[in-house]
This record gives sequence, structure tokens and C-alpha cells, in this order.
Amino acid sequence: MVKREITEKLIKAIEVYEELGFTYLPLKQDRFIELIKSKPVYAVSETHADTVSEPESALSINKDQALTQLREKIGDCTRCKLHKERKNIVYGEGSSDARLMFIGEGPGRDEDIQSRPFVGEAGKLLTRLIEKMGMKREDVYIANIVKCRPPFNRDPEEDEIATCKPFVERQVEIINPKVIMSLGRVSAQSILGMKMPIGRMRGNFFSINDTPLMPTFHPAYLLRNPKDKWLVWDDAQKVLEKLRD
Ligand code: SF4
Repeated sequence: MVKREITEKLIKAIEVYEELGFTYLPLKQDRFIELIKSKPVYAVSETHADTVSEPESALSINKDQALTQLREKIGDCTRCKLHKERKNIVYGEGSSDARLMFIGEGPGRDEDIQSRPFVGEAGKLLTRLIEKMGMKREDVYIANIVKCRPPFNRDPEEDEIATCKPFVERQVEIINPKVIMSLGRVSAQSILGMKMPIGRMRGNFFSINDTPLMPTFHPAYLLRNPKDKWLVWDDAQKVLEKLRD
């Protein structure tokens, strides 16, 4: 890649994050190089780019406003190919002051219809886990790596993840939870930028921008493998301990 091309892509990448209200680049060096090589991540539609005003600092506006502002910036997003078959964008929901945030992979059929994360059978299991942890669903914040349903519930592809991920990263920055639990392989690998199997990641704390992150199994996996529920409960205990620190 010629120097000018790299510079232009770097500027574009910084503009996208600036547009989303970031005050820093939430990227590791290898991830940033990956983004430069990946074209779709910079494909912010002209329509949205034109209507975005100068971002205010997340510190100077309250969290609800910042979340609303981000949702407005996402708009009727067509930045990646997942927009073609979705019914609704599933932005995320919960308390903007949540101390615990859950990040899943992407919406399924029920979520796509209702425009809410984790409302199907897997969602009911997640809600039960939250309640067993002594909280209500409204106390936490729940979002996904990609905000549109991948066709036939397939895994989101790398270009789709790269394009949508800045939105969830911005949600993390705004909410600033004390602990994050990522749900499933795709979520953990996407956020952490590593390819380790979920079975090896779960049970251990990782860190994103100084926020501890506990990868655990996706509730949909637990519906198929109920014998592994105790492993998730074990992960939840460690998260509760961290929340008590
Ligand atoms: S998945 Fe994300 S980037 Fe792709 S169209 Fe939906 S909101 Fe836009």
C-alpha cells in the first residue's frame, strides 16, 4: 500500500471514531493495522456523515444523552451487508449507569422482530442468570457486537464485525461498566482481538481499556449443553466478586 493511501485510510479511520464521539482510539496496534486493511469499516454513509454535528465530550453530557446520540448516529444503518435482511436494528438496552454489561454476538430471530437484545429462549436464560446474580435485567446493560441479525443466525463475518464494532465500543465507553461479561466465542474473540477457543478463555478475566472482561458461554450454547451451566455460574461468581471489590 502506498504511503498516501495509508495516510488517507488512517484519517478516515480516525474520523469514524471521532464521529462516534470517541476521545481516544480504543484499538490495539495490531487491530488498527487490521482496520486499515479492511475497507468496509470506513464506509460511513455520506448521509450520516453529513448530518453528524461536532461530537461533544462524553464527559460533558449525561450517559442517556450520549447513548441516544449514538443511536441517532447509527440511524437506519446500511454500513455493512447485514442491513439487507434485517427487520430492525437491535441497539441494546438497560441502565446507562450499569455496573455490569453483557455483550453478545448478534440478534437472533426474536430480537430482530422485537428490536430488543436477548428476548428469545436464550434471552430468558440470560435474564435468569442476571436474577440469580442478585440483579434485575434493568440494572445491567445488554448489547451485541453486530446490531443486525445475520441471515439464518450464521456467525457475523469479519467485515461485518469490523464495521459494527465501533458502536458497541462506544457504548462501553459511555456506560463505563465496572465489569463486562462477553457471551460466546464470537463476542469474546471480536472484543479482545484474539482467536483463542472460548473454552480456554472463559473463567479468566481479560481487560479492555482497563475494564475487566469475563468471557463466558453464550446462553444459546447452554440451551444445547445444559450440563455446562455450572461453568457459567462459576464465571458469574468471579464477576460478582469483582463487582464487590
Ligand atoms: S450490523 Fe451494524 S454496521 Fe451493519 S448495518 Fe447493522 S448497524 Fe450497520
